[in-house]
Amino acid sequence: MIKLVVVIQCDLVTKRCSGFLCMRAFYNGEEPMKEYNPAETRYMSLTCGGCNGGCLTAKLENLSKWLKKEGIEKDEVAVHLASCICTESYHRPPCMFENFLKQIITKHGFRVVLGTHISKKASERRAAGIYKPIR
Ligand code: SF4
Repeated sequence: MIKLVVVIQCDLVTKRCSGFLCMRAFYNGEEPMKEYNPAETRYMSLTCGGCNGGCLTAKLENLSKWLKKEGIEKDEVAVHLASCICTESYHRPPCMFENFLKQIITKHGFRVVLGTHISKKASERRAAGIYKPIR
């Protein structure tokens, strides 16, 4: 069972985005977060730390330390790359360091899940070929 969902947001995007819709996607059970039960699974978000994402290493080291103290195993944690990182939207194109971020996360023993809230407008623009498709 997943006890903790961690959402990684683009540090640049968080200058103007509160992350509310990512949080709402979790509590509303939106795809790709529908497998979680908010009554049993905790939610937290953090940013990549800024380009090129290397600061995420220290953040995940810190997280790992606290998980150990709380008795939470790494396979009980799902790390989501927020939609602002892995899909094209009005914020920006997908992050050019996405694979680097994934490597950092998996190296720390966490499962990576792509995406959080999927915006209706971005989906329409994707269908119209304006934005790149979700990989
Ligand atoms: S590394 Fe990617 S996700 Fe992080 S701030 Fe830069 S563009 Fe955003």
